[in-house]
Amino acid sequence: SPVSPAPQDDTELAIEGALRPASLDAFIGQHKVRGQLELLLEAARLQHRTPDHILLSGPPGLGKTTLAMIVAHESNRPLRLSSGPAIQHAGDLAALLSSLTPGEVLFIDEIHRMARSAEEMLYLAMEDFRIDIMVGKGAGATSIPLELAPFTLVGATTRSGMLPNPLRDRFGFTAHLEYYDAAELEQVVHRSSLVIGVDLGPEARGEIARRSRGTPRIANRLLRRVRDYLLVHQVQSDVQAVSAALDLYDVDAIGLDRLDRAVLDALVRKFRGGPVGLSTLAVAVGEEADTVESVVEPYLVRIGFMGRTPRGRIAMPEAYAHLRIPHSDGGLR
Ligand code: ATP
Repeated sequence: SPVSPAPQDDTELAIEGALRPASLDAFIGQHKVRGQLELLLEAARLQHRTPDHILLSGPPGLGKTTLAMIVAHESNRPLRLSSGPAIQHAGDLAALLSSLTPGEVLFIDEIHRMARSAEEMLYLAMEDFRIDIMVGKGAGATSIPLELAPFTLVGATTRSGMLPNPLRDRFGFTAHLEYYDAAELEQVVHRSSLVIGVDLGPEARGEIARRSRGTPRIANRLLRRVRDYLLVHQVQSDVQAVSAALDLYDVDAIGLDRLDRAVLDALVRKFRGGPVGLSTLAVAVGEEADTVESVVEPYLVRIGFMGRTPRGRIAMPEAYAHLRIPHSDGGLR
C-alpha cells in the first residue's frame, strides 16, 4: 500500500506540529526573508541582546506562525502565543506583557485586530520596555509606570495596510511573505509526505503543488486528503489518483476553491466584469469583506485573474478563459 501504517499519534494536531519546520534551514522558500532573519538573529546573538521586533505580513498559511516559532527556537528563547482578537482591552495586554520572562518572544497573530487602547500601550512597551498602568478614575486618576522584561515582539498580519503607522514604525524589520512557486510547494509536499508516510512520485507531488494556491498550509491539507483517498480506495499513488482525490474536494485544476470561483463568477457574470466595490462583491458571494480582501483577492490578483482599479475590482481576460465564458475583448475565441 502507498500509505504506511498510522504513526503513533495520528491526530491532525500532532501531525500539524510535526509538519512545521523547526529551523530556518528547514524552512522552504522565502529566501530573501530567511536571509534577513538570519542576519537579524545573528547580530542580536553577537551583541547579547534581544532581537528587534519583527512584523510578518502576507496572506494566511504562508508560514508566519512557523517563522515566529523558528525565531524563538533559533535564538533559544521561550515563545508566548497570542492574537489580536484576544486583546480586547489595554488590561489584557498589560497582563500579557508583565508576565513575560526576560528575552521571551511574544507572537501576536492578526495584530491588526487588537483593541485601539492596547495599541497605544504597545508603542511604549516596544520602545522602552515599559508601560503606564492607569489607576483610579476621573480627576484622581494617576498612572503608575511598570518596567517590563525585554522581549521580542513578532507581529503577524494579513493586512499590513491596516496597521497604524506608529505601530508599523516600531518594528525593526518587516517581512512580506510571498506566495510559493510550484517547485517550492513540491518540496513542501515532499517533506510532508515523508512525515505522514505517503509514498508519492514527483509527478503526483507536482499535481498537489499546482493545486495548492501558492500556500504551504493548503499543500499540507490537500496531501492529507490524498492520503485518505489512497487509504480508502487502495489504488496506486499516481497522478490520476491525486487528481481524483482533489476533484472530489472541489479544488480545480489550478487550485481555485469554491469561494475563489464564486467570487470570479460573480465578478464576471453578475457585475459584467466590474469595476465593482469589494464590499458589494463580498455580499454577492455571502462572505465577509475581510475574507475576500485578505484571502481570495490577493491570489486572484497574483495569478492575473483580477485587477484592482481606483473604481473597484475588475475581471481580467484570463478569468473569462478559466470560467469558459466568452469575453468581448477576446478572452475566449
Ligand atoms: P496564519 O497567519 O493564518 O496562522 P501562517 O502564515 O502563520 O498562517 P503557518 O501556520 O505558519 O501559517 O503555516 C501553515 C502550515 O504550512 C504549517 O503547518 C507549516 O507546516 C507549513 N509551512 C508553512 N511555511 C512552510 C515552509 N516554508 N516550509 C515548510 N512548511 C511550511
